Amino acid sequence: MRNALTIDLEDWYHPELVRPVLAPDRQEPQIAESAGALLDLLRARHVKATFFVVGEVARNNPDLIRTIADEGHELACHGMSHRTLWQMTPEELRSDLAEFAQLMGKAVPGVEIVGYRAPTFSLDNSTRWALTVLLEMGYHYDSSIFPLKTPLYGVAGGPLEPYYPSLDDVATAGRQGPAAPGGDHPRDCLLEFPMSVCSWAGMRIPVCGGVYLRVLPFGLILRCLRQINRQRPFVVYVHPWETYPRTPRLELPLPSRWATYYNIEAVMPRLASLLDQFSFAPMRTVLQEMEA
Ligand SMILES: [Zn+2]
Repeated sequence: MRNALTIDLEDWYHPELVRPVLAPDRQEPQIAESAGALLDLLRARHVKATFFVVGEVARNNPDLIRTIADEGHELACHGMSHRTLWQMTPEELRSDLAEFAQLMGKAVPGVEIVGYRAPTFSLDNSTRWALTVLLEMGYHYDSSIFPLKTPLYGVAGGPLEPYYPSLDDVATAGRQGPAAPGGDHPRDCLLEFPMSVCSWAGMRIPVCGGVYLRVLPFGLILRCLRQINRQRPFVVYVHPWETYPRTPRLELPLPSRWATYYNIEAVMPRLASLLDQFSFAPMRTVLQEMEA
């Protein structure tokens, strides 16, 4: 079974807990180095991934975007500036996505973008209008719903496997549009690949990347991922800044500092180990394989 490997292509100053405390003149880009190290690993292991790209990173690094495309990875959207859906109106999301499409059209002409991940997993029932906007703008799938409520994000009780979220309640599956002729999956539906959590003794344990890949014991992560794989594919997500030892560490309040920087040194070896132990592909490919 192949699993989805996803990289949120954002710089070290984009995360939600960092951006508000950092003056613009201290935002020294580091994405070329940090993403370069990740690309080296993927090249060495012959693994293709999905890169959810922040538009302003693409604008400042078109060569990096071309390299990612040339090496056979999938390109997808992570918003223009990492602004969350909670901070946007439907009209603002529409223009954000239009600007992103124009920018990527220039950087990598002809490359189709069909996947979206909301910054900070900000797709929940308060922002479910985004599903309709994504469909209108030609997206096929989304991977933004965290099926577990955390202090920052999440949708309690959401499905654990890929599903078509109801436009009335993203925690439930529902057909959004008519089925296509010939029994294909409905063309007017946006497929959701929720972030992977492991269900254990009535609890949901998030194991799929980011802070969880850094702070949880690696043995527990491996056990949980194997358990998920007995039933369905999982998704792993990492950020270049949290795989890169030279990421600047800001003096954030303690909980934020811990959530953002703890154990960054462990992520690259852990990711390499995951690539050795599990099979991965871009998210679009994994979803197509599930539908076949
Ligand atoms: Zn992000």
